[in-house]
Amino acid sequence: MAGLVAAVRARELGADVVVHEKGSRPGGSMLLSGGFVFRYREWGRFREECPGGDPELQRLVWERLDDALAWLESLGAPVAERETGNPLTTGLRFDNPGLVDVLVRRAGDVRLESPLVALREEPLILATGGFQGDRELVREHVTPEADTLVLRSNPWSTGDGLRLGLAAGARTSEGLDEFWGRAMPAPPAWITEETFRPLSQTYGRFARITNQHEEVYEARTWSEIDVAQWIARQPRGRAWFAVPDDALGERVRDRTVREIVESARAAGGPVERLDGETVVEVVAGITTTLGGLAVDTRGRVADGIWAAGADAGGISLGGWASALASALVLGLAAAEDAAGAVSA
Ligand SMILES: Cc1cc2nc3c(=O)[nH]c(=O)nc-3n(C[C@H](O)[C@H](O)[C@H](O)COP(=O)(O)OP(=O)(O)OC[C@H]3O[C@@H](n4cnc5c(N)ncnc54)[C@H](O)[C@@H]3O)c2cc1C
Repeated sequence: MAGLVAAVRARELGADVVVHEKGSRPGGSMLLSGGFVFRYREWGRFREECPGGDPELQRLVWERLDDALAWLESLGAPVAERETGNPLTTGLRFDNPGLVDVLVRRAGDVRLESPLVALREEPLILATGGFQGDRELVREHVTPEADTLVLRSNPWSTGDGLRLGLAAGARTSEGLDEFWGRAMPAPPAWITEETFRPLSQTYGRFARITNQHEEVYEARTWSEIDVAQWIARQPRGRAWFAVPDDALGERVRDRTVREIVESARAAGGPVERLDGETVVEVVAGITTTLGGLAVDTRGRVADGIWAAGADAGGISLGGWASALASALVLGLAAAEDAAGAVSA
């Protein structure tokens, strides 16, 4: 998201831009996402939900998002829904393939399978999507149970931006141990990019959540980001969701808990009846890391280097706020500053 946005904006401002894309297709995790680009309706609520994040960066995202969404729409990005379905938030849901298509066409020179592996002389915006795809970095910063995590993201975000930024003298942000993710059915469940979203087990608030020592955890956020982070740190990276029969009819967005449980069963996940409850064994899916390089409100990390998207850490910490929103706003801010640096 952030790289394409930055390229489009920098070109609008007259810069010559090359987008180096490591993957075999453009769009990164944005293409796989739910497409919800949102902010909390109330500034105070944003702070309450994500108390660990940098307030200045949060303020930037919160204040600029509505204009940034209007800018995306003005480019022709197709909107799928004008509501987020969550009374706490406001934003748009984009049709992802259409959004990627619009951005790629306007970004100009997008080179696929062209990973950036070294620093360059020209202004450089790092937007490699975080480090969730690198098992060793995840083990070092997030959890010793890294091997048990399901990668719920594009496969190419392996911390290249973090490494390049640090090599250029950048600092790390707070929250390197935090990530956004979902509870997913444990092995042998068959999980693919297409089933990242439908197989997400998003009913922790209706379940009794335990680890293998029978220690109980209670979901404390609407997004259940805390549940995924807790599971990731349990012995063998495992937890069990025990759902009483009377909770199976509860709704989570457009599905019942029963339907979500059945999706886990159908994928081959461990689901059983025990003591009159339906019990689903889960692991944590890691979608995006939330700590990264420390940026200022122009996205700067070092001389001539900017970062945006998940490479720019420290915005939604302690809870969940739209990573697509941060990627969009920081992508624009970085491009504007970098384009100014080119023309100055
Ligand atoms: C299933 C799923 C659902 C989601 N739903 C939502 C949602 O509804 N709302 C929301 O806000 N967020 C959501 N997210 C998270 C969101 O998609 C990501 O956090 C967001 O795309 C991050 O933007 P980014 O630009 O940092 O990374 P990406 O969009 O992943 O882009 C990073 C790009 O960098 C490329 N890259 C990596 N290394 C290099 C290198 N060395 N050189 C060149 N290119 C490189 C990658 O291939 C990738 O294309 C979801 C994610 C997933 C997977």
